[in-house]
Amino acid sequence: MNFHEYQAKQLFADYGIAVPAGRVAQTADQAVEVAKALGGNFWVVKAQIHAGGRGKAGGVKLCKTLDEVRAAAEALLGTRMETYQSAGVALPIDSVLVTEATDIAQELYLSVLVDRGTQSITFIASSEGGVEIEKTAEENPDAIQTLHVKFVEGLQAYQCRQLGFALGLNAKQVNQLAKIMLGLYRLFNEKDLALVELNPLAILKSGDLAVLDGKVNSDDNASFRHPDLVAMRDIRQEDETEVKASQHDLNYVTMDGNIGCMVNGAGLAMATMDVIALNGGAPANFLDVGGGATKERVTEAFKLILSSDKVKAIFVNIFGGIVRCDMIAEGIIAAVKEVDVKVPVIVRLEGTNVEAGKRLLNESGLAITAADDINDGAKKAVAAAA
Ligand code: GDP
Ligand code: MG
Repeated sequence: MNFHEYQAKQLFADYGIAVPAGRVAQTADQAVEVAKALGGNFWVVKAQIHAGGRGKAGGVKLCKTLDEVRAAAEALLGTRMETYQSAGVALPIDSVLVTEATDIAQELYLSVLVDRGTQSITFIASSEGGVEIEKTAEENPDAIQTLHVKFVEGLQAYQCRQLGFALGLNAKQVNQLAKIMLGLYRLFNEKDLALVELNPLAILKSGDLAVLDGKVNSDDNASFRHPDLVAMRDIRQEDETEVKASQHDLNYVTMDGNIGCMVNGAGLAMATMDVIALNGGAPANFLDVGGGATKERVTEAFKLILSSDKVKAIFVNIFGGIVRCDMIAEGIIAAVKEVDVKVPVIVRLEGTNVEAGKRLLNESGLAITAADDINDGAKKAVAAAA
């Protein structure tokens, strides 16, 4: 699950990490009220969307007067924003974060994630942070510091200080960094997070460190024990089809291609997408209907796939291991009738009761093409979509 910047900063504050004073606003009037309440004469108005890269897309506006705050909020609220991190989607700006602005001397990068290679929670840091961090990682990998935390020992203050000095910080900044890192480590563990990113973690002209941007991503598998995090979910920022899929316990991910895929099992779904690609096609989605594919779920799956008008053919690839192929065939036939599928449907069934399943499909009178194996099915789907 992803979070907005203002929610991330609230989580940081809950764990003793100082963040710039600010509040979220849904209207331009509210934005001006927040700026007034903050006082001073320098504010930042920031679009709240589930994607970084807002700075480059015009979603971060520095304002010197209350009129500028109003104008910035009016320009952003109610519009949609696409950034280089939003995967081709324009996300709705329903709120803006208004914070006191600060004068930046240098922008650092700090993130926490789970490194599967070393099986450890890992900090990644760089003295060359900011909106060009991807470029730094590519062109100057030596400027990136990595710290693997041993789970049994936990994060130690001396490790934070080592990292701080490696980043070129002075003693006071190193202590501030240690406080931030220890807080992040506790937050990361207690809330079962998957990623935290501070970019920029700024060195201000005053010499202090300041958390100016925050991105948090939590592990969905642990959502059941974090109702407080679930309450922060903003489904308006999520892919509509994926939200619907999750309501039906289907694992669905939207992709760019035009061949809808309905498969049981995540591994087979991945293999199916690969074989489609090998045959020169492109999948429109990843979809795992799960081991217990019932008629109802198969019907829902067809509806999801067909909710995109990009889909020009559907490839159903089911291995009847736990489920029986004849039952799956009945589900497919019922679904195709109910949903009124207009695009070609190619079905490959294998496993228990496969002959009975194929017979049902052949005798159904529907325009369903049977495939002999996964490669044959993919080939037929690619040809049908073209
Ligand atoms: P992102 O582009 O979505 O990652 O949004 P950020 O919150 O990181 O903002 C983008 C850039 O705006 C930062 O890298 C900073 O250069 C700038 N920025 C953000 N907050 C402040 C601030 O308080 N003061 C100043 N001077 N610049 C800021
Ligand atoms: Mg940022």
